[in-house]
This record gives sequence, C-alpha cells and structure tokens, in this order.
Amino acid sequence: MKLPKDLEKRVRQTIWQKSKTCVLWFTGLLLLIIFFGDVVFPTKYVGMKIVGYILVLALPFIFTKFPFNLIDETYCGTIEHVEIKTSTVNEFLATRFREGGATYAYKINTLYLHIITPEGECIRRKVFSGQTDQGQFLDTYHAGDKVFHLYGTKTVVLLPTEADEHVACAVCGSVNEKENDVCRECGCTLVKDFIWSEENENNV
Ligand SMILES: [Zn+2]
Repeated sequence: MKLPKDLEKRVRQTIWQKSKTCVLWFTGLLLLIIFFGDVVFPTKYVGMKIVGYILVLALPFIFTKFPFNLIDETYCGTIEHVEIKTSTVNEFLATRFREGGATYAYKINTLYLHIITPEGECIRRKVFSGQTDQGQFLDTYHAGDKVFHLYGTKTVVLLPTEADEHVACAVCGSVNEKENDVCRECGCTLVKDFIWSEENENNV
C-alpha cells in the first residue's frame, strides 16, 4: 500500500524517535572507549578488556530493547474473521504487608483480526489485549470491515463505508467528517480507502 507523503514522513520520524536513544548512547559509549578505554578498564588482559567493551556497548541495546522496539508494520485489508482468545494470567503481586505477597489470577481477552490484504494475502494481527472485567471494545470490528493500521500507532482504524459520514484519523484516532482531507486534531492526511489518490494529499 502506498501511503500519503505526510504519513510516510511520520513513519520515518517514529523510527528515528524509537532508535535515537540507542544510537546516541551507543555512539557516546563508543567514543568513551576509543578515547578513555585504558582508563575505564585498566587491565593488562586484552581478553578481559574486549569482554568489558562488548558488555558496555551492549547496554544501550538492552535498555532500549533496540531493534526489537521497532517491530511493527503498516497494514490494511478486509476483516475475514475476528478471533477473541481468553486466557488466565497468574501474577505475583508483592504487598506492603509482612506476609510478602500473593498470587492473583485474572482473565484477559486478546483480540486478533484475520485480514485479507488488497494483495490477497491472509494476515493475523493482534489489536487488543486487556483484563476481561474492564471496559473493552470487543465488538468494534466485524467481518467485512476494512481496516488500516499505520506503523508506530496504537490504533487499527475502521475505514468508512459508503454510508458512513465520519472517518477516524489513523494517527491520533480523532473522528472527522468524511469530506475532510486532513485531521482537525493533528493535521495528518485521513486515510479513507486502500487506494490512495494523490490529489487529496496533505503535503507537509
Ligand atoms: Zn489526527
């Protein structure tokens, strides 16, 4: 799927936002090792020095979960069916009391969409996971609905049908009038169909 230019730019910005902490720390630590390596690790054993350097340089990746924090993708398609999985979670919660803690069991619902992409591919994507006794939106999606998800956002928006008068913004989730081309909240281009016509594009 070809994206409007402003959404493409947004995806690139999101990737940089998620990468920069790791990149900057890694560069900083690398420079520190290059210039002050002997001060930081004052050992005459080369092997030990190398292990120390590797451990230090691995820290930014461990703390920022880079590159795993980048895993996501833009997708769209028609829902084939909606799958709701209910599972039990056992969680140990430490308490302030002397007895220490207790194990609590609760149920969570996970919502998966089985989607047929415009290219005819069948994909399964998780859209929601949460405790069963809390407010949930399990009936938001139905078979036949067209959906769109933009890389790095938390939402999977429903694309408007002919009869719909509103469209949800794929970036911020705000509801907009269908005739609008850009979101009134965030100014991003509104995606209304899989096939994008460049005339309505918001060139920012
Ligand atoms: Zn918006």
